[in-house]
Amino acid sequence: MATATKGMFVDTTLCTGCKACQVACKQWNELPMDDETAVREHRAFTANSYDNTGHLSASNWRHVKFVEQFSEDRVDARWLMMSDSCKHCEQAGCLEVCPTGALYRTQHGSVDIHQDVCIGCRYCVGACPFGVIDYNQRTGRVNKCILCQDRLEDSQGTACAKACPTSSLTFGNVDDLKAMAAERVRALHARGQTDAYIYGWDLGNRGTITQGPNKGAAVADMEVVGGLNVFYLLLDKPEVYSLPSSPQLPQRNMNPSAGVALISAAVLGVTGLAAFRRRRMEAVAASSEVSS
Ligand code: SF4
Ligand code: SF4
Ligand code: SF4
Repeated sequence: MATATKGMFVDTTLCTGCKACQVACKQWNELPMDDETAVREHRAFTANSYDNTGHLSASNWRHVKFVEQFSEDRVDARWLMMSDSCKHCEQAGCLEVCPTGALYRTQHGSVDIHQDVCIGCRYCVGACPFGVIDYNQRTGRVNKCILCQDRLEDSQGTACAKACPTSSLTFGNVDDLKAMAAERVRALHARGQTDAYIYGWDLGNRGTITQGPNKGAAVADMEVVGGLNVFYLLLDKPEVYSLPSSPQLPQRNMNPSAGVALISAAVLGVTGLAAFRRRRMEAVAASSEVSS
């Protein structure tokens, strides 16, 4: 039976970068502690602030980003921290291209993976506009956050949200989370923090960035790829958090190339037909010359 869509609201203004969420995800899902991607790339120390995970991967289903911003005279500074994972998109590029049905929509509205059905073709890796899903060298299949499907089936919230000491991550029904997010943005704006807006859904908030290199730029809530069931409250442009401002679904990328392929096929067909007719006419002319 279908239930209300579940998701998470990520309020980045409350994140302290403690990484309890990352550790909780590793523990609950029994993910390997050695990051195979880091080992593959000979990268164990990124030297990028306090971030030694680098990005989401088959063994890191959650990743806390650290963005350091300084004023031109380097007198003022701020850290933007954001705990990232799969967004469990309403229109999920990964799911749309999966040829085997390994990626599927659960009764909670999340996007899960049947590991035994995945053939490791990696179509989904290229189709995710957020670079979330990753090929697992150990298993030959793909992995990503599955919104703790086993916990949801047991009526528990997600492990990462449960571990977060500041409530930067909140698990719940997406409709309730949207109401919570709208209220939070309104409260921040009332306090003068007008750079707060929502990435994932358009809840109607409009504001202006108050600090950092984009100071003065207009910001507004953004609904992307039909809505994200894991969505974010941000204080600067999406690109600052390495999020796309206009993520594209795979078929939008494929349509122009499919059109080009069809036109090419038509041109080849017409050219081939013309060549065939020319050769036939030459043959007819040659045979009439012989008979005369
Ligand atoms: S974020 Fe990427 S992996 Fe997650 S549901 Fe959306 S398209 Fe799929
Ligand atoms: S919802 Fe579960 S699987 Fe996803 S990042 Fe959080 S702990 Fe990991
Ligand atoms: S547990 Fe909460 S505060 Fe700590 S890094 Fe994760 S989201 Fe941020």
